[in-house]
Amino acid sequence: MPADSGSGSRRRRTPTDAGFVLDTRSLGRAPGTMRELHRIVTTEGKLGLEMVGIPAGAQVELDLVLQSVSEGVLVTGTVSAPIDGECSRCLEQFSDEIELQITELFAYPDSATEQTTEEDEIHRLVDDMIDLEPVVIDAVGLELPLQPLCEEDCAGLCPECGVRMAIAGSDHNHEILDPRWAKLAVFAVQNGESAVQNGDDSAVPNGASRTDQSADSDSEEK
Ligand SMILES: [Zn+2]
Ligand SMILES: [Zn+2]
Repeated sequence: MPADSGSGSRRRRTPTDAGFVLDTRSLGRAPGTMRELHRIVTTEGKLGLEMVGIPAGAQVELDLVLQSVSEGVLVTGTVSAPIDGECSRCLEQFSDEIELQITELFAYPDSATEQTTEEDEIHRLVDDMIDLEPVVIDAVGLELPLQPLCEEDCAGLCPECGVRMAIAGSDHNHEILDPRWAKLAVFAVQNGESAVQNGDDSAVPNGASRTDQSADSDSEEK
């Protein structure tokens, strides 16, 4: 969805004290006034990065203090949420939880802060409302790693066959199929076959020792 259509629909919506939108009118405007705010918000869409983020429909817990300051409303506290992600090493889905620390000033209209800063530097109060969603999105982006891991020490995938090493076990490995070794393997098979042809079927160990002896005598002749 293009960003324009999202912000357009948000502007048309009548501001209500719900979800990530916090009404500050009951706080008053006297500096130092505080109000605690505890709320569970169900996310409408995914918040976060491509590989990891707060999934849609998740319960995000806001544990905040709104404080009136001279330039606006200061929001501090924690935002806790479940996250879903895809491990960047083994590509498995995993779930976890994050706790984000929030400290954000929302400037009053016509305050000195509003006049001397850009909107993308300091958030604004709009119709006495705080929209916390972009703050949460920014905090999630800063908190979560670009290359998430299911476990700190995830062993990833086998570089040879792609199996998850956590499933395959630590003794999982592969015969080295270097082209030079492959030729030797073919030579050994041909040698084994000629030994069987020269001797009888029950004498494979003898055939093998005969090959060893001829190799020894070759080296002695040189
Ligand atoms: Zn992993
Ligand atoms: Zn493998």
